[in-house]
Formats: sequence, structure tokens, C-alpha cells
Amino acid sequence: MTKKIIIIGGGLAGLSAAYFLNTEGMSFTLYEQNDRFGGFCKTEESNGFYYDYTGHLLHFKDQEIKSLVLDDLLKGNWFLHARKSFIYLQDRYLKYPFQQNLYNLPFWIKMECFFGYLLTLRLPLPKSLKIFTTKKIKSSEGINLYDWAIKYFGRGISKYFMIPYNEKIWRLAANEMSVSWMKGYVPRPSLLEVFNGTFFDSKGGLGYNAKFYYPKKGGIQALVDGFVKKLPEKRLFKNKKITEIYLHNKMVNGDKFDKLITTMPLRTLILDVILDVDDDIKEKAKKLKANFVLNVNIGLKKKVIGKHWIYFPDDKFIFHRIGFINNFAEGMTPHPENGSIYTEISAKKELDNLEWQVIEDLIKVGIIKDFTDVIDIKTLKLPDAYASYDQQHDQIVADILAYLKKFEIYSIGRYGKWEYAAMEDAMRQGRDIAKDILNA
Ligand SMILES: Cc1cc2nc3c(=O)[nH]c(=O)nc-3n(C[C@H](O)[C@H](O)[C@H](O)COP(=O)(O)OP(=O)(O)OC[C@H]3O[C@@H](n4cnc5c(N)ncnc54)[C@H](O)[C@@H]3O)c2cc1C
Repeated sequence: MTKKIIIIGGGLAGLSAAYFLNTEGMSFTLYEQNDRFGGFCKTEESNGFYYDYTGHLLHFKDQEIKSLVLDDLLKGNWFLHARKSFIYLQDRYLKYPFQQNLYNLPFWIKMECFFGYLLTLRLPLPKSLKIFTTKKIKSSEGINLYDWAIKYFGRGISKYFMIPYNEKIWRLAANEMSVSWMKGYVPRPSLLEVFNGTFFDSKGGLGYNAKFYYPKKGGIQALVDGFVKKLPEKRLFKNKKITEIYLHNKMVNGDKFDKLITTMPLRTLILDVILDVDDDIKEKAKKLKANFVLNVNIGLKKKVIGKHWIYFPDDKFIFHRIGFINNFAEGMTPHPENGSIYTEISAKKELDNLEWQVIEDLIKVGIIKDFTDVIDIKTLKLPDAYASYDQQHDQIVADILAYLKKFEIYSIGRYGKWEYAAMEDAMRQGRDIAKDILNA
């Protein structure tokens, strides 16, 4: 007998699950609450400017997903860019990543960072130390981010970048934060690389996003449109919000299911949508926290050239990161001479009405000259944007996912798994759950 598979959410995780089920001829029904598919992977138009929900850049580790995206979904509609990203600190720009590009810092700060790093190597050098090798740090060591930063990067690098930037984006004290989200996102340069980056204006291109892909046309939404084109329309439902799930008799909004793939935020699923969930699981879900990101997008008369994005670790600026979508692709502005800026502001609770402050700070750092440069503003809101990796996070999520699995409910995606993850992870998880169901 064919199984009834329901998918909640038409973001990348849900669409990818649908795609891989469909490829194997398996039937499914996908429900999306909004009037468009894409979740946080949508592109919005405003007066001829196109804005994503902040920067959405593609990078890949999984070959199957890479070729699905580049060859089948985008069909060559992509650019490969070498990252041009910077950090604004001490009234100057440094190349990113900080730990590999200290050169432009004032002399004494540079020395504080360099010698702080040197001390982490516990000289005299043990034989096993490979000074020429960049290391991926194993993040499952159960230490908090503060101790981790000091241990691997030293006091200077921690004080000027690692700690303030991470506290600003995650809105959590570094000593309360676990580092399990890193999964290779933060590289530790070798001694040679730090030396070069301190005393020479080196190229310094470490990190998972040193190169990135972006659609030539259509913004990041092009990826979602690629999926939707490949799926049977009659199985995709928009404007259909799931509000009631019963675990024990396997019902979703009154429909029976055999297997349920859900990509809605895990906390909402447990606290508001599943109506017969055990109390201890509810108590655990109440401890899940996340921050909110306000994304103020600004359309400009003239474009800013030569930069993809910039980090702002200093609290005197409201945003932690800004970027320039017109430098990822053409056609994102009404006229070729126009430009645009996306800014990201992180907070513990929902924020609003910060447009003028954003513009003032952009003027302060010299990115725009004055208010007359601005010809469009579009603010987007990203609730639950970054799951809070406090020390309890991993265990709570593992317990809830294991509980749901007993009822053949699979919670996937960045929000379904309440994790820090990229678009590729969402698509990979969609593929993997589809394959598990097919092989069951
Ligand atoms: C600020 C920020 C920047 C990012 N930058 C990058 C980047 O540069 N590169 C990168 O690879 N990734 C980036 N990401 C991550 C990327 O956005 C996510 O990994 C990916 O979009 C997650 O897809 P998803 O399907 O898991 O979730 P979502 O996109 O949230 O999709 C879930 C869908 O479920 C729907 N839904 C929710 N509740 C219900 C309900 N009750 N009934 C029906 N439907 C429902 C939602 O409307 C939504 O469409 C970024 C994320 C953020 C927050």
C-alpha cells in the first residue's frame, strides 16, 4: 500500500524532500503557509530593487547537491565569485577572516593579537605541530565560546573580533555559548599564515565561503523557482497553514499521514501545533531560544564597488554585517548605476523602525554620503534567525527529534532542527530523509 507522506513547509528543506521523493515516483503533499514558496530563500522586489533576506550565498560540500543546484535547478544561471569581504574595526578595513589578516591594524593591537596567538601554540613547539597547516577545529569539546576563542586564537584575536562579533550576532554571552554550531565554519590558521597576515598584506583567503556561487539572474529565489518547476503543481499547496497535529492518531489539520516531514520551527511545532505532545517534551521545547534579525535594505543612487560584504564587530554600529547584492549579480537594481545595501541587525526580541539609525551608521562609516543617496528602503524580518547555542541546546534538540521520530515525524531544515546551517544543509537533509523513507 502506498504511504501517505505530508511535507510541512515549502522552503529549501521541504522542496528538496519533495524533489527527491518525486524523482523516485513517490507521492507526497506539501503545504506552505505563505502565498509563495521559498521560506528565507526568497527575493523581494521594491521599486525595481531586488533584495534577498540578507545575503544568501551558495557554497557546497556535497557533490550531488552541488550538481543538482548548478546544473539542474539553476541550469548555468550562476556566477562563481572570489569573496571580497572585510571587517571594519578601529576606523579601518581589514580583510576577512580577521585571524589571518591582522596587517592593517594599529601596531600595538596587531602585536597583541599576534603574540596572543603565539602563546596558544604552547612554545617550544611540540614535534606534532604542523606550522604550515590550517586546522579545522573540532567543536565538540564541551567548552564555551569564550574559553574556546582564547584557547585557539589567543587573547588579542578573541578580544578584538571573535568574542565581540559572536556576541553581537548571536546575542548571547560568549561564556554561555557552546561551539557545537561551528562544524568547520571557523578555521584556525597555521603559525605561518598568521605570521604572513600580521607582517605582510597577504591574500588571506581561508574559510568555507572563500568562493561562493550566486544566481546570475533572479536573486536567490531562482533556486526555489528551479525546484518548483520540477515538481507536480497538484501536490504543492500554498496559503495552507498547518495548525493542528495529533501524534497518536497521526493527523495533520484533519488529514491522516503515515510519514510527516516538517520544516517549521521546532519550538512552534512542539508548543503550538502538536496538540497531544508529552509535557516533558513541551518543557524542553520551552528552553529553545533564538534571536531575531532585522534586515534593512537600502536602494542607492550609486553603487558601492569592490566589496561583497563587511563585518562590524563594534557595538557602536547597529548592524553586525552589511553587504552589496548588486556586486553578486547584475539586474538587482532598476538601473545599472544604482546600488543597494543589505544590513543585518540582531536582537533577542523583534525590532522595528531602525531604518534611520541604519542610514546614520552607514553615513558614519562613510559607505554613503548623506540621506539623498537613498532612493529605496525595504525592511524584512527574520524571526528565529539564529538558534541560540547555549550549553543545553544539543541535548534538548536531540531528545525532541528522537521523540518525534517514534511517531514517524521527521523535523528537518535549519528551523526544524533548530540549528545553524546553510542552504546546502537544508537541501541535503531533504534528500536524506526522502532516501530514508524510500529505503524503509
Ligand atoms: C540571516 C541569515 C543569513 C543566511 N545566509 C545564508 C547564506 O549566505 N548561505 C546559506 O547557504 N544559507 C544562509 N542562511 C540559511 C538559509 O536561509 C537556510 O538554511 C534555509 O533557507 C533554510 O531552509 P528551510 O527550508 O530549512 O527553512 P525555511 O526557509 O524557514 O522554510 C520553512 C518553510 O515552512 C513554512 N512554514 C512554517 N510554519 C508552517 C506551517 N505551520 N504551515 C505551513 N508552512 C509552514 C515557512 O513559511 C517556510 O516557507 C541564512 C539564514 C539567515 C537567517
